Amino acid sequence: MSKVYFKRTSTKKYDQLGSFAKELLDIIVKEENYKFNKKMPLKVHFGEKDNKTFTPAHTYNQIIDYIKSKESEPFYIETNVLYRGERTTKDSHIKLAKEHGFYQIPIVIADGDIGDEYTEIEINKEYYKSCKIGKKYDSYDKFIVLSHFKGHEVAGFGGALKQLAMGFASRGGKLAQHSEIAPVVKTSRCIGCGICVENCDVNAISIKDGVAFLKRNKCIGCAGCMAVCPEGAIVNSWKTNNFTKKLAEYAYAASLNKDNIYISFIINITKKCDCIGDEMDIIANNVGVIASTDPLALDAASLDLLQKSSGEKLFEVGRETLMHGEKIGIGSLDYNLIEV
Ligand code: SF4
Ligand code: SF4
Repeated sequence: MSKVYFKRTSTKKYDQLGSFAKELLDIIVKEENYKFNKKMPLKVHFGEKDNKTFTPAHTYNQIIDYIKSKESEPFYIETNVLYRGERTTKDSHIKLAKEHGFYQIPIVIADGDIGDEYTEIEINKEYYKSCKIGKKYDSYDKFIVLSHFKGHEVAGFGGALKQLAMGFASRGGKLAQHSEIAPVVKTSRCIGCGICVENCDVNAISIKDGVAFLKRNKCIGCAGCMAVCPEGAIVNSWKTNNFTKKLAEYAYAASLNKDNIYISFIINITKKCDCIGDEMDIIANNVGVIASTDPLALDAASLDLLQKSSGEKLFEVGRETLMHGEKIGIGSLDYNLIEV
């Protein structure tokens, strides 16, 4: 049975939420005799441009100070997103993060300039033999994974498991979860500039009759071409089956052989995730801050607490991720909730 620590609060004050998060982190550090590495990556989400409900940077100040007090140097780590926007490439991603206040500590983008740097992690599960995880995640065996627990259009909810599955995946890993097929060239938008050809390491694209032609049998699905095309002419289908279970398998790959601590903020409950660049309605009251070394138990407890507090079966489809995640060995659905 996994231990999950919980601080109930309806506060909307981020400094107070940060203080609760630090308190839970301290409990786990003492209980587990957890030792920080010399450099400690904090996995966060910087929030899409114009999103108003992501967890703001100053929430993490006390966690940062706590880690520094243990003679460790914290830094933020993230990967580039699949869709086109401010967080598609490293430089604009870091620029947006800083505009959102994430300048207290250095930022590392784990999948490189255009999101095509990854390591294949072998898992041999039902949907994936291996998963594309951002290359720089390889360099660390311990992470503090900080998540905002809220809804997600396809996954039901986004919490710790989604932070692992999408947040640790390179752009190609995200493409593999979101789509069954290689990217597609929209020839009506293509101007034949050849930038995608120069950036494809496996020569899967050429220019034919003045437009890009993508050879599916050669494409390894790194999604780099989607990031560099100045016309947005290379797109993915956003169509996939069994997305919830695929998420679980990517979360398994991302957490394999890692000794992580997971903290989630069950606040600002919106139907959609922090990648939405828009103001969204809050659909349920704040519940609190929660922490565990087991991401699956953490998400299960977060969902149960939210459903109990709201009196509604919110985000129920996400239980598919929890069930498949337990089956493949991410963690336990059986948890002991310790309210502090
Ligand atoms: S064609 Fe395929 S392999 Fe080449 S850059 Fe695009 S996604 Fe990557
Ligand atoms: S980068 Fe975009 S516009 Fe340029 S050739 Fe490739 S698909 Fe066409």
